[in-house]
Parts: sequence; C-alpha cells; structure tokens
Amino acid sequence: MVRNLAVEYQHGFTLYPTTPAQSRQLACTMTDKPTSSPNTVVGKPDATGIYRHGFGLKSAVQDEIVSDYHGPIVEQLRNNDYTLQVGSLRLVLAREFGFCYGVDKAVDFAYQTRRMFPERRVFLTTEIIHNPGVNRRMREMGIEFLHGQYANGTTLDQLRPDDVVILPAFGASVAEVEQLRQLGVTLVDTTCGSVVHVWKRVEKYAKDGFTAIIHGKYSHEETIGTSSRVTQYPGGRYLVVRDKAEADVVCNFIRGSVSAATISDKFSRATSEGFEPTRDLQRVGVANQTTMLSSESLEIADMLREAMIDRYGLDTVDDHFRNFDTICSATQERQDAVHAMGSQKPDLILVVGGFNSSNTTHLIEIAGHYAPAYHIEDASYLVSPTQIRHKRWNSAETEISENWLPTLPATIGFTAGASTPNKAVGEVIEKVMEFAGVLGPEF
Ligand code: SF4
Repeated sequence: MVRNLAVEYQHGFTLYPTTPAQSRQLACTMTDKPTSSPNTVVGKPDATGIYRHGFGLKSAVQDEIVSDYHGPIVEQLRNNDYTLQVGSLRLVLAREFGFCYGVDKAVDFAYQTRRMFPERRVFLTTEIIHNPGVNRRMREMGIEFLHGQYANGTTLDQLRPDDVVILPAFGASVAEVEQLRQLGVTLVDTTCGSVVHVWKRVEKYAKDGFTAIIHGKYSHEETIGTSSRVTQYPGGRYLVVRDKAEADVVCNFIRGSVSAATISDKFSRATSEGFEPTRDLQRVGVANQTTMLSSESLEIADMLREAMIDRYGLDTVDDHFRNFDTICSATQERQDAVHAMGSQKPDLILVVGGFNSSNTTHLIEIAGHYAPAYHIEDASYLVSPTQIRHKRWNSAETEISENWLPTLPATIGFTAGASTPNKAVGEVIEKVMEFAGVLGPEF
C-alpha cells in the first residue's frame, strides 16, 4: 500500500496518505532509494547534471566513516537492551537517537565525493549537518564551506568549473542551486528525501493557489530551501511561523482581530516578497520544517483550521485550509524515544548535539519534562564532577551550572540529535562514568 502511494506521489500527487503515520512512512519510502529511472543511476548525474545518488563508493568509504563516528560503548548499551548497570550507576540510552537515515546519506555522499575527486577543490554550500564535530571532520578532509560559521571566504563568483560543490542534507534554495548550475561546477546533492517530500508538498500548495504556512525557523537552511520552492510558481506565497504564539497572531488576523499591518510588520522577514496578508491568507496549506516539535506542529495546524472555520464556516473549510504533517519519521522517533526514556524516571538526562541543531533542541525541550536535563555538544562540556557547560533550549548562550551530577545510586539517561555521531555520545557516557567514579578497566 505504502509503495503504491509513493508511486502515485512521484507522478503528480494524485493520491495522498491520509494519516500522519502514512505520511511519515511515505517519506521514508521515498527516501534515498534509487528507482529504476535512468536519471537515478548510482555514479551518474541526473538529467539536470546533478549527482544525487553517490558515486558507487559506499563500501570504499565505510571503514573511514565507522572509524570517525562510531562508538563501542554505545554499541555495548544497544546490545544490552539500551541499559547498563555500572556499580551503583544505571545508564539508559534512548532507543532512537543519533544519526538518522538522511544524515547517514549526506555524510556517506560527502566522503564518497572527497574520494571521487581527490585532486579537485570540494566545497559545501554550508554546514553539511548541524554538528560541530562532523563539520570539523569535513574541513580536515579538505572540504571548504561557502557560507555559515565555517566559511573560508570563497565567494560563488570565485568558483571554477572544475570545482565540486556539495549541497547539504537540508538542501539549498532554488536560486542558489540555479546559480551553481550556471557556474558549471560539479554538483553533488545530499538533500534528505524527507526534505524533498516537504518541497513537493509546498509546491503543490503553490500550484493550487494556497499560501504555504511553514512551521519552522525562517533563517534555518531547510526552511530557506523549502520556502524558495513556492516562489517558482506564479502567485506562490509563504509565511513562516516559529511557534504557537506566532501562529496565534496569524489566526487572529484570519478572524479579523489583528490588522494586515501587524502581520506585515511582524513577519517581514518570514514571508515571500510582496506578501499581502489580506490577499494571501485566504487559502493556506500547512507544512513543517522536518525537525520541529511534532506536537506543536499538529496544534498549529488545528489552530489555523479553527480560525478558517470561524472565518468561512465549516462547509467551505476545505477551500481555505490544507494540512500535511511533514515531520520526518526520524525526528518523530527520537522525540517518542525521549518520552519513553523519561517514563523510566531518570535522575538526569543528557542530550548531545549541536546547539544549532533544531531536532536536538526539541529533544532537550521534551527531556526537561522528565528530569533535570542538559544540552551539551560533546564531552568537553562536562567540565568537572560539579560543573557542566550547557545551553537551555530557549536561550542563545551557554552557561555553567553547578552540581549537575546526581548522587549515586542514580539513573542517567542519554540521547542525541539526528546529526550527532555515536562516538560523541560514547565519549559523554565515558566522561560521566569517570566523574561518577565507576569507570572500570572493562571500559
Ligand atoms: S532529521 Fe529527518 S529530514 Fe533531517 S536529515 Fe534526518 S531524516 Fe532527513
């Protein structure tokens, strides 16, 4: 059934999944699986000249990837039903954590690209994923960055036709891809299939005359790429809402209690060019950045639907509102796993991942409901048995907290965002054991 849905979907959206679970399953089904199309042959570019399926070097780079990112202690926990009793310390690992299928693919393609073009300059448009350790490794491999915090100052007009440019897991905007194609560089696309799934959704909205309301962060690379998709179509519009509070403002505009000027002002950086609230908020379709808090995305969709019912009536709501859950399955599974781990009542939860990683930020938000929880990027943030450097999910800065390590006996839970290597998780676990005084010779 799911396979049929995917086929229909690829041929023009004639049949839609009807439940969020089907939607996520469809995204997985589409993701990263070569089809029989001649445009998707491994090692060959597609009809647009872009390499989207690697270079057939997966097995050649596998050992290097395992050595760079895998961690034996994590495997030990996994093999022991995700828990380990070490003296009076119980370690619990979330059942879904760390690298997702999209990140696996992006990292694999980047390594394959480096191996394929050892003599050529290789660039990433921006961070391949939001993890400092992985991006550091990219630089060590001689891959430079065009934008973002790791940029080396190379501008697009300095690129040469023999350069290679990798598009990261969250994709790139339509305009940037077109610019790179015009420059004649070799393009390697690692965009996750689940992100492409969202693109197709908002494109469909634009074609049908619906404004895409995107639950996400307007400055996040994925949302920049997604929102750019609608502008390919005449009259295509978008508005990005960060959270329920922002969605509420939009709902109140739809109901008539907030002015168009307020919308234009508040969302000036989060709307398509020429956005006119009165014209562009009559028919809306909701989509999400794939890594948002899924419960909030569902609530936002409900809020907008209710507002449309209040404005236009239940009978015609389908003419004014559409929704499609585009949270990816990996994000959903990691969030569900934190809830499950939280029900084991740990004394502390450590969430490992890049501070700019959206999905990691949501894991810490959830973890905080169950136990004292700290978001750290790696083991170096465990400063001492009494001090931890961490970042709160709703804060821009890191801070030091005291007395973070619970008194033994204790249970400590661990999880990690979809862009966090197992090795980083393992190093955190080892440091915790060391500070707790339970790191024995077997480790
Ligand atoms: S978090 Fe989801 S959308 Fe992002 S790369 Fe992973 S699987 Fe793809």
